[in-house]
Amino acid sequence: MAVTKGVLERYREFLPITAKTPMITLGEGDTPLVRSRQIEKEFGCELYFKLEGCNPTGSFKDRGMVVAVAKAVEGGSRAIICASTGNTSASAAAYGAGFGLSTFVIVPQGGIALGKMAQAVVYGARIIAIDGSFDQALSLVRTLSQKHPVTVVNSINPYRLEGQKTAAFEIVDALGDAPDYLFIPVGNAGNITAYWRGFVEYHGAGKAKSTPRMMGFQAEGSAPIVQGKVIEEPKTIASAIRIGNPASWEGAVAARDESGGLIDLVTDDEILSAYRLLAREEGIFGEPASAASVAGLIKVARQGISLKGKKVVCIITGAGLKDPDTAIKDAEPPIELAAELSAIEQALDLS
Ligand SMILES: *Cc1c(COP(=O)(O)O)cnc(C)c1O
Repeated sequence: MAVTKGVLERYREFLPITAKTPMITLGEGDTPLVRSRQIEKEFGCELYFKLEGCNPTGSFKDRGMVVAVAKAVEGGSRAIICASTGNTSASAAAYGAGFGLSTFVIVPQGGIALGKMAQAVVYGARIIAIDGSFDQALSLVRTLSQKHPVTVVNSINPYRLEGQKTAAFEIVDALGDAPDYLFIPVGNAGNITAYWRGFVEYHGAGKAKSTPRMMGFQAEGSAPIVQGKVIEEPKTIASAIRIGNPASWEGAVAARDESGGLIDLVTDDEILSAYRLLAREEGIFGEPASAASVAGLIKVARQGISLKGKKVVCIITGAGLKDPDTAIKDAEPPIELAAELSAIEQALDLS
């Protein structure tokens, strides 16, 4: 096995790299594309899960962050700043710490999952929790970056999407062509925009014969694109997609329309049931937002879009351990027993 390359080196020709760009990496990218064993049977398709939770900080954000931070370092920046529902701050904090930048993160108070907060804390970011939404946090970050010498690493930073498009390259490299359908959660809408760009660029470069239909899914209480209007108080259990005014709204709509896909919504119940299904039927533990892609697949298949014989990829955007509270909230507590063989056998129906 060779030393880890990272996305900057592996996809250098497709990225905005100059002779001065530091070729940094924390081991992002090259994530598994795992074939479904159970869920695909119901739909008669060839289904794969792209496990973006296997990135160094447990979400796809690392693909874009490595490019944004490399360019910040190249430009002489000393500090980075982001608004976050959790994963952007975890990723910014890691890359900031790893490559000598101060990291400032602004999060909605009470709106970020425990594991993500733990990451920002341990990587040493300066964290401000505001009494407001993600959209307000992002607006404050925009203003702060205009007044002070700090580089914004939210997906309004164009280098973020450049890095994130490499996930589309990996899917084509793994399958030998683009899939027929790509299912993906949509929050701030940067990722769907980046994937579409990646598929189009790879197709243009002759690396793929086709491009997929882009199937984006928002949560019901946070579905501005589906409803065609800004949502002032977005609500959903899936905190990573709890966004009422997506920064890449237009990019997402273009991805949908140019690809012949759709952007629809799934309910929190559908998200949670897909979240459990993915864990129990496939052995894959994604965070709740990630399950929106699988919930979307189930929804469209039940509505009658035939996936028979199609190649389908669901993006599992982040790792389940990020949000342990959701995992155990409605779970039955463990059975507490004395350390006694017969009692345990009885409880496990082994007697
Ligand atoms: C950021 C994030 C999303 C949403 O991606 P956008 O680019 O904001 O649409 C979905 N899932 C997870 C786990 C995320 O971290």
